[in-house]
Amino acid sequence: MLTPAQALRRILRRVAEVSPLPAERVTLAQALGRALSEDVRAGRDLPAFDNAQMDGYALRAADAPRADAVLPVAFEVFAGDRPGRSLPPGTCARIFTGAPVPGGADCVEMQEEVRRRGRSARFRRAAVRGRFVRAAGSDVARGAVVARRGDVVDPGTIGLAAALGRAELAVPRRPRVGVLATGNEVVALGGPIGPGEIFDSNSHALAAACADAGAVPTLLPIARDDIPSLRRALDVASGLDALVTTGGVSVGDRDLVKKALAEAGARLDFWRVAMRPGKPFAFGTWGRMPFFGLPGNPASALVAFEIFARPALRALQGLCGSGRLRVRARLAVAQEKPAGQTVFLRCRLEGSEGDARAEPLASQQSGHLASVAGLDALAVLPAGRARLRAGTLVEVVVLRSSSPSVRPGARIG
Ligand code: AMP
Ligand code: MG
Repeated sequence: MLTPAQALRRILRRVAEVSPLPAERVTLAQALGRALSEDVRAGRDLPAFDNAQMDGYALRAADAPRADAVLPVAFEVFAGDRPGRSLPPGTCARIFTGAPVPGGADCVEMQEEVRRRGRSARFRRAAVRGRFVRAAGSDVARGAVVARRGDVVDPGTIGLAAALGRAELAVPRRPRVGVLATGNEVVALGGPIGPGEIFDSNSHALAAACADAGAVPTLLPIARDDIPSLRRALDVASGLDALVTTGGVSVGDRDLVKKALAEAGARLDFWRVAMRPGKPFAFGTWGRMPFFGLPGNPASALVAFEIFARPALRALQGLCGSGRLRVRARLAVAQEKPAGQTVFLRCRLEGSEGDARAEPLASQQSGHLASVAGLDALAVLPAGRARLRAGTLVEVVVLRSSSPSVRPGARIG
């Protein structure tokens, strides 16, 4: 049986063959957090013209070679004025931050260093050529590559793109993911529910997890545990970028998902991973589409999604890894586990800087929904260990970007 790390490597190798997805042009706001499909080149200099870095006076440095030079103020220049006006020799110009430096002037003195009297200005210190002038192209030179294909778009990159006049960026399109629930007992939310039946909760949880991974989920019709019903649901999935199924992938007589996929022409890459929860997990490809056969138990489905499907859906978008922080934390409670299996212990993170504690949730049963709501983190209990004492340092996958139970300042990593 594969370890989770081996399984993930195999998945990512397959998914790399179809990654990243083709590019689309999106607005700057839509590009946030996504990888670039293009090198972004500066179409203009930044700044585009020499401009004042301070409120003060523009002058020729040669006209104030020593402290206490006095120059007449020839005119004023405000931010937004057209560049081009020239400064007569032996004069200065009142200037404000962001205003174009007049032709001939080669420096700006800050107003704190200038004594203004009527139409003349006294400079307390010698002027220095270039001081407080933001020269054209000094931030970014026209033609320079300011962000590369594969870089993740952050707020600063968005600002830079906007400064260059770019309203749109090219990024891989979001993967469209079919989410297929299976099981005779599973009924759609909102409909009638009979004895022995349960509401389909996994589709909704997994659709949310897809969206959280940057993908666009589509709920497929719930399939019954028979081949024709599964085949009908799979037909709806064709043309999508990935498929996530839940249930019907274990060893029961009616676990037919793998069979239905195989009959539809899919290739199973592997089945079962030495982990808990989430062991009966199947992965393969159906044409160009990777499929993730997740278990039916709600916690198993979400944990297997987190460990395998999330990094894969991100890879389709040109993004690296799971996008989760990994920290080290002390186990708050001793754990016993089967040797040979990696256990993902559902925890809340407590404590503060340098002293994070992983507090296991009361229930670790894979069928319990209360064990996945309000989850902070998964503590990774290594396959090699059967017993872990309270206080043991373990690696923890942080599932929230802002965890309510970690106090600000807690050290991450
Ligand atoms: P299975 O993997 O099909 O054997 O299902 C394992 C358990 O998960 C069973 O108790 C199912 O009723 C439950 N289950 C399967 N699919 C879903 C679903 N979509 N929502 C909630 N529970 C489910
Ligand atoms: Mg089932």
